[in-house]
Amino acid sequence: ERNMLEVRNLSVHFGEESAPFKAVDRISYHVEAGEVVGLVGESGSGKSVSSLALMGLIDFPGRVRADALRFDGQDLLRMPEKQRRTLIGSEVSMIFQDPMTSLNPCYTVEYQITEALRAHGGGSRRALRSRVIELLEQVGIPDPESRLRAYPHQLSGGMSQRVMIAMAIACKPRLLIADEPTTALDVTIQAQIMDLLLSLQRSEGLGLVLITHDLALVAEAADRILVMYAGQLVESGPAAEIFRHPRHPYTQALLRALPEFSRGAERLVSLPGVVPGRYDRPQGCLLSPRCPYATDACRLREPELAGPQDRQVKCHTPLDDAGQPVRAAQEIPA
Ligand code: SF4
Ligand code: MG
Repeated sequence: ERNMLEVRNLSVHFGEESAPFKAVDRISYHVEAGEVVGLVGESGSGKSVSSLALMGLIDFPGRVRADALRFDGQDLLRMPEKQRRTLIGSEVSMIFQDPMTSLNPCYTVEYQITEALRAHGGGSRRALRSRVIELLEQVGIPDPESRLRAYPHQLSGGMSQRVMIAMAIACKPRLLIADEPTTALDVTIQAQIMDLLLSLQRSEGLGLVLITHDLALVAEAADRILVMYAGQLVESGPAAEIFRHPRHPYTQALLRALPEFSRGAERLVSLPGVVPGRYDRPQGCLLSPRCPYATDACRLREPELAGPQDRQVKCHTPLDDAGQPVRAAQEIPA
């Protein structure tokens, strides 16, 4: 089966050409039709930037490069801007973390969803209105007719996110990219929004890319998981395998920070320090200052992303089934 989305060696650079900040550094992945892919990492790992690049939303001075960025076999980077916009606009939708900043406060719910519909065809006023009502029903907004004239500030966070989702699916996309879709919401509402996204994903057969810092969120939902660190892909594989046997120390740390592993302590990652920024990128493996298994070799030489296409790890000494680094015999001190 052909991949719906294929991303090959995508990079997003900022700053001087000679010493760029690599917000995204040569990442490759694919999404099949109807598949749920979790894109996981701490903030600053490049997960949002990589998706914005895909949508054509990186403004100057950011520089987007890729060997290929294909949707349905068509190369987004090598088609006229107008064609790209049309293709992306009709086939790919994105929803963001904070619905309050994405909805326009000056317009009613009906107006905003109608605009989304008009961008892809339109119809008579009456047809548009009934489609808006249908969409609001589909995203679980009770008594939709009474909400048509509501302004965003009159809606709760959860309701606003439902409206955003209605706008995102208005053009019947085949791929939905959801960037931290529940992070700004209360815990109980988070679960409802996730349920909604996943039921839409199933009923519409959508490809879904779930961008999150929360590995727990994609544990059950995702078919495959991509783990990013400091702009790079460090591990990828089927969700069940990643959970059972993380091979990369960073993935292991993300897993160990989950409540059921860390006994209630709410930590994002069980490692000291933070993702390196623009001016403090270490030499060698980018995780080396934080990695409990780092050796001198790690601090000198950057590991390659290696392994079969469906199970890749970027580490000199990937972890074994017991969660310990696999050392080459000569590296084990006598
Ligand atoms: Fe840790 Fe070394 Fe692997 Fe990097 S290469 S993740 S520092 S063990
Ligand atoms: Mg982000």
